[in-house]
Amino acid sequence: MSQLAQPVTIIKGVGEETAKQLGNLGIYTVGDLLEYYPFRYEDYRIREIHEVNHDERITLAGVIHSEPSVRYFGKKKTRLSVRVLINNVLITAVFFNQGFIKKQLQVGSSITITGKWDRHRLTLTVNEFKIGDVTRQNELAPVYSVGGNLKIATLKKIIYQGLKEYANEIQEILPPFILEKYKLLPKKEAVLRLHYPQSTELVKQARRRMVYEEFLLFQLKMQSFRKFKREQTKGLPMPTNRKKVEQFIDSLPFPLTGAQQRVVNEIMNDLSADYRMNRLLQGDVGSGKTVVAAVAMYATVDAGFQAALMVPTEILAEQHVSSIKELLSPLGIEVALLSGSVKGKKRREQLEKIKAGEIHVVIGTHALIQDDVHFHKLGLVITDEQHRFGVEQRRILRDKGENPDVLFMTATPIPRTLAISVFGDMDVSVIDEMPAGRKTIETYWVKHDMLERVLHFIEKEIKQGHQAYVICPLIEESEKLDVQNAIDVHAILQTHFKEYKVGLMHGRLHPSEKDEVMEAFSKNETQILVSTTVVEVGVNVPNSTVMLIYDAERFGLAQLHQLRGRVGRGEHQSYCILLADPKSDVGKERMRIMTETNDGFTLSERDLELRGPGDFFGQKQSGLPNFKVADVVHDYRALEVARQDAVEFVNSTHFWEDREYKALVYYLEEQGILSGEKLD
Ligand code: ADP
Ligand code: MG
Repeated sequence: MSQLAQPVTIIKGVGEETAKQLGNLGIYTVGDLLEYYPFRYEDYRIREIHEVNHDERITLAGVIHSEPSVRYFGKKKTRLSVRVLINNVLITAVFFNQGFIKKQLQVGSSITITGKWDRHRLTLTVNEFKIGDVTRQNELAPVYSVGGNLKIATLKKIIYQGLKEYANEIQEILPPFILEKYKLLPKKEAVLRLHYPQSTELVKQARRRMVYEEFLLFQLKMQSFRKFKREQTKGLPMPTNRKKVEQFIDSLPFPLTGAQQRVVNEIMNDLSADYRMNRLLQGDVGSGKTVVAAVAMYATVDAGFQAALMVPTEILAEQHVSSIKELLSPLGIEVALLSGSVKGKKRREQLEKIKAGEIHVVIGTHALIQDDVHFHKLGLVITDEQHRFGVEQRRILRDKGENPDVLFMTATPIPRTLAISVFGDMDVSVIDEMPAGRKTIETYWVKHDMLERVLHFIEKEIKQGHQAYVICPLIEESEKLDVQNAIDVHAILQTHFKEYKVGLMHGRLHPSEKDEVMEAFSKNETQILVSTTVVEVGVNVPNSTVMLIYDAERFGLAQLHQLRGRVGRGEHQSYCILLADPKSDVGKERMRIMTETNDGFTLSERDLELRGPGDFFGQKQSGLPNFKVADVVHDYRALEVARQDAVEFVNSTHFWEDREYKALVYYLEEQGILSGEKLD
């Protein structure tokens, strides 16, 4: 066994107590310790005054020019200032609450000071200083994250001791031709350079190497898992009839867009293949995913199997049922709803028919995954807005058939490169084209004091026969959160728009009440619908042209985009109005981005930049590991490269035999990375 796999206690000076503290940081073995990299570097390079920016954190070297003077505030607070000559420029160095150092600051002594630079006052607020000539060897100092009782200095000492004793054990695992191809540093050198930083450039090189390695290992795991799954889990090779599917497509009220057609082909290939489909379908709001799902379900039923579609909300389930019935019922296909509102006798009947195979397509909410739901021959499982369901819920539905094909649909577009890389074990289809003739929605950001004008605008739209949504973040008044609430807003608007009807929708209504509200709105019996975000996903009322969002800064970009997608579904020009007084820069930036782009992919890329990947994906659901060095957002190019290499390796017949790969394969086997274990 490699020494690196030994517990940290084999390192000189590390006892049980220290080992426990290291354990709190996730460090158990020598290898863990050596791979515990600094999370940032403090830059101690001596700077020239003229080249530094205001507020920058910098280090200067000079000579003390005057006696320090100390001022006292209250009991404990002090401000010590001293004049320092830096290359003929006289500046002021300020030390807070360090009056006791006064004696050390002798006129004529050399001093190195680090802190925040005020360009206008020529003043440095000092955090760290050193008396005497400049002796620092490193221009960069590693900063490690520590916790508990462990001091950073202690941790550093242990890491350096560990490196001294065991750095030679670090094995190269990347194939030589890869090191050559990408000009990567050998592993040992990279590790040493991360702990002993010598220059920003060298750290960057070392980082680059480790990023590639981390991504490659991650992608090898994903790709081998995908391959394993394809080989091991026999799917259902459905005897699909392409000709009939094409006839069905021709019978649709509109021609498919090129993107829809492409995705349909990808799905058709999967359905008839003998591996199990595991496909993510991404398409912006309104790009027409439902029709694609209908085609897939048609092909499935035509081949003699049942199809299930699971959606997150009752409203959406009902909408899907009515639009899909319209397409499939004329062909003799039985479509049924299974949701919380289907109860008692009706439900029992439905269940019987599903079990007997008399119902071909089942559309529903969570009610679909209850224990008493049994299918006759489930061949295709689709989940819409897949991010709304947990991994477990999706698995339960999948397990109701024998290896059914699985399609996930989402309107929360994940930046393309990232999706392909992160969901490496899934196939990804993208509908990146809108149906022809769609008008772009005009988006405006206005402050709350403009509300009167906004309402006037809505009135104008209603007079032309159109409708409006008004979205509020909360249901009831909350003193703590200064937000408008749906109930209040509804009352206010109903008073304002006396000649019109205003509906109210929120999550606490009974399902049957929700239906009534929704139905009234879709029949234009109510002209305005005040709602919480329950209308966020999927709802389709093409006659509505205005989406007004109260306190828009409280929503994330993806959610705002979803909400905006509720309008612009018909032939009329539509508008999205964001009512917001954001305080933070990020909030303002969000509003700006919304007004600037209608494209969900661009938006999600910006969102990712603003929020970072952990937040964006929800770490758990994504199956993303915690990388030590790599960052899926900033290093996504490397991720893409690593992914391509991993695909090539896994599918290469030489992979297991070639000497080039020997160290890598050995490592993968030792770590159990190629075992085909489930990732999620
Ligand atoms: P989403 O991707 O948001 O689920 P939908 O499937 O609800 O989008 O489609 C939005 C609207 O566009 C629907 O009214 C649908 O009938 C219409 N639609 C879908 N595909 C096309 C197409 N190829 N041409 C014209 N209209 C289409
Ligand atoms: Mg949809």
